[in-house]
Amino acid sequence: MSEITFSRRAALLGAAALPIVQGARAQRRPPSIAISSANGVAACAKALEVVRAGGDTLDAVIAGVNIVELDPNDNSVGYGGLPNEEGVVELDASVMHGPTRRGGAVAAIRGIKTPSKVAQRVMEDTDHMMLVGEGALRFAKDQGFLEEDLLTEQSRLSWLVWRRSLKDSSGHNNWGPGLDSPPGARKTAVLERLKQEFPQATEAMLALAWEHATNPPHGTINCLVLNDKGEMSGVTTTSGLAWKIPGRVGDSPLIGAGLYVDQEVGAAGSTGRGEENIRIAGAHTIVENMRHGMSPKDAALDALKRAARNFGNDAKRLEPIDLNFYVLRNDGEYAGASLWNKRANGAAPQFAVATADRASQRENSVYLYERK
Ligand code: ASP
Repeated sequence: MSEITFSRRAALLGAAALPIVQGARAQRRPPSIAISSANGVAACAKALEVVRAGGDTLDAVIAGVNIVELDPNDNSVGYGGLPNEEGVVELDASVMHGPTRRGGAVAAIRGIKTPSKVAQRVMEDTDHMMLVGEGALRFAKDQGFLEEDLLTEQSRLSWLVWRRSLKDSSGHNNWGPGLDSPPGARKTAVLERLKQEFPQATEAMLALAWEHATNPPHGTINCLVLNDKGEMSGVTTTSGLAWKIPGRVGDSPLIGAGLYVDQEVGAAGSTGRGEENIRIAGAHTIVENMRHGMSPKDAALDALKRAARNFGNDAKRLEPIDLNFYVLRNDGEYAGASLWNKRANGAAPQFAVATADRASQRENSVYLYERK
């Protein structure tokens, strides 16, 4: 009973406070600004260029992330993304358009380099929210998208090397020299053996493949934009976790987890281990936190705390988890926030920002925990 009284009073207070907050923000014209995950310096520059030329906010972020989706050297998004355990690239993407409050998504789609554009078509040309797998590919082809092989020479090599890195408990796998081969052949150091097996690959390609095989990288691009009319849109697009089970879907295509936009408040998106983000509906949580008055930074740190709480706040269990949020409020205030102060490779977590008066560049994210 007392809970009902409390929440009614809170609702009344909230409703009364809202016009004042919105009134204060509405006095200033919002700055045009784009933010994204760290791999989106060029994407933010593009998104900002499109909105400053008067383009639609969703077209702007999609034009931005298309650069990364089509980049064969980004191994976590679109073409060149690392494949699933069967060597097939499966992509996830979602979009949200603030002005019309609509969204669209595709998951586990194969063969299409720009899944963000397919998600936009789902939003605009269907009354569905998400298409997956075979259905998503058929829809994309019907819409005129070209089905292509998304593996590059590097990502195929990385997958082959990953398969060769798997061993049973006695240290054996089916891809090395047979048990009946002379002992010398079995002893050759890994990279030496890989050189013999893949004579066409350069040493740099093999070294990168070995790195991918033994430390599967994370990655995705999330990009959010605000124009000077206060309109906002967002997109998240990814090849998901490297070597995943075919059919695995991460947080990126899930509205409310990998992406959420409500231009009356703001927008948020995520990269990192999708399973942990899905469990806290991270992007929606962050936007709702801002709706209730938190700053972008505090809203994201609160979401990270919820993810940590799912592990009993045990730093040891959280150690292997990479989780990052990107947040843009509708007045132009923004933040990047990460679970750890260093990524597994030792680098500080960052995000990209482009504004009208400053070229697109990276900034450091705030974080919840420090790695020793
Ligand atoms: N969030 C993505 C997923 O779980 C992967 C990533 O950002 O590394 O699919």
